[in-house]
Amino acid sequence: MYSGRGNGLASEFMQSAGGCLMDAGIKDELALDDLLRCAREAAERAYAPYSSFRVGAALKLTGGAVVTGANVENASYGLTICAERAALVRAVSEFGPEIRIAAVAVTNLNDAASPPCGACRQTLAEFILPDAPVIFSAEDGVRTMPFSALLPQAFVKQRK
Ligand SMILES: [Zn+2]
Repeated sequence: MYSGRGNGLASEFMQSAGGCLMDAGIKDELALDDLLRCAREAAERAYAPYSSFRVGAALKLTGGAVVTGANVENASYGLTICAERAALVRAVSEFGPEIRIAAVAVTNLNDAASPPCGACRQTLAEFILPDAPVIFSAEDGVRTMPFSALLPQAFVKQRK
């Protein structure tokens, strides 16, 4: 029946969305772990037929929303977009240009290190709070660093 099917889809969507929506403070370890879980879920949706390197990112905005992204590759390799920038573009598109990022999580499904690349660090710098924690897969396991340590002396627009 149509109504039954509709209800099923709705509850499926809510369950999926609920997995990555948090209203608790992000400073504690549990919240960062949750954000990392959101990033991992996003990595499942990566389009990576060329590298098979599947990355997911989750941005926690100051308003509490969590926005995820996955890497999207292209036959013209240079047009590939990383998970962090995919999430950022999505966040601005959904919430507008005044967003501020309070925390970032990045991980991958390849059991490899995947700190944000240089291009993503510069792109995040435009919207992120300097002390925002960034949790990511590193050579020696999961690591958390303040953004300002990942990109010191960032080139950014001066905010008034
Ligand atoms: Zn990147």
